[in-house]
Amino acid sequence: MMLVSRVAALSFVSLPNRTLFSSPSSLFPPVRLRNSRMASFSPVRASAQKLQKPDELIDSVETFIFDCDGVIWKGDSLIDGVPQTLDMLRSKGKRLVFVTNNSTKSRKQYGKKFETLGLNVNEEEIFASSFAAAAYLKSIDFPKDKKVYVIGEDGILKELELAGFQYLGGPADGDKKIELKPGFYMEHDENVGAVVVGFDRYFNYYKVQYGTLCIRENPGCLFIATNRDAVTHLTDAQEWAGGGSMVGAIRGSTQKEPLVVGKPSTFMMDYLSNKFGILKSQICMVGDRLDTDILFGQNGGCKTLLVLSGVTNLQMLQSPDNNIQPDFYTNKVSDFLTLKAAAV
Ligand SMILES: [Mg+2]
Repeated sequence: MMLVSRVAALSFVSLPNRTLFSSPSSLFPPVRLRNSRMASFSPVRASAQKLQKPDELIDSVETFIFDCDGVIWKGDSLIDGVPQTLDMLRSKGKRLVFVTNNSTKSRKQYGKKFETLGLNVNEEEIFASSFAAAAYLKSIDFPKDKKVYVIGEDGILKELELAGFQYLGGPADGDKKIELKPGFYMEHDENVGAVVVGFDRYFNYYKVQYGTLCIRENPGCLFIATNRDAVTHLTDAQEWAGGGSMVGAIRGSTQKEPLVVGKPSTFMMDYLSNKFGILKSQICMVGDRLDTDILFGQNGGCKTLLVLSGVTNLQMLQSPDNNIQPDFYTNKVSDFLTLKAAAV
């Protein structure tokens, strides 16, 4: 009975910008979730300044949060000068954190990717949106006897498993088909208390219907999105439909807004700040995307640095249509080193 009322009480949180209250036994203080719709309400800032004195920025913060794709690597290639830059920042005692909206891998799997690229990064320094989904459920003390239905890939399942949650769906439902024979009725598990939706290359109608039934028919069932990214870079030949397309399908059928745990929602920022005990004003967010990375930093009250080594170019930054201005911009993270050398 307690469990039912807890989940039911959470049903209102699908509204954006509402403060969520964690239970007394939860690990984290209340967090505030904002979703990517905040982009349209972002105040217009003064134009970004070209980074010229990296030392001033480095000295003004204690933590750097890096987005990964387009900042640290591009596909499977490391971006020039990254290892030396990270080493320099560590030698100055800076805390480094790596955050990605890509939910297809778990923290452990990302750790392997860093290792393969020759980067010395601890698993504890990596925060993927797959981890954020599990951390969010933990933060609200999601009942362990409830289940999570997953529309997404292996990374989400691995993180849910590590956090001790029961789940179903994911890749196992990738081949399932629906035969619309007369009178066909699809059963669903009434014990599902949350549907987590992330990027899923095996997305299909079975998953849409299953997730929809859980959200519409199970009282208080949560709708959680790892991210709402419009596009992603599955190959370097073109942009591909991102996690936002899967989330959009479920939003369309349920008419509900998801709780977003990835960027630009502030959940991960709040989590990091609580976990490491750092002030947000002491963080610099470094990313290649305006509507996720830079907005994430700004929503969290951090300093922001845009690098032009990924999806955003100078023209896009300076376009009159863009109202998201970072504090600084530069070509790539290794400019921290080259600009320092030039300044000597
Ligand atoms: Mg990126």
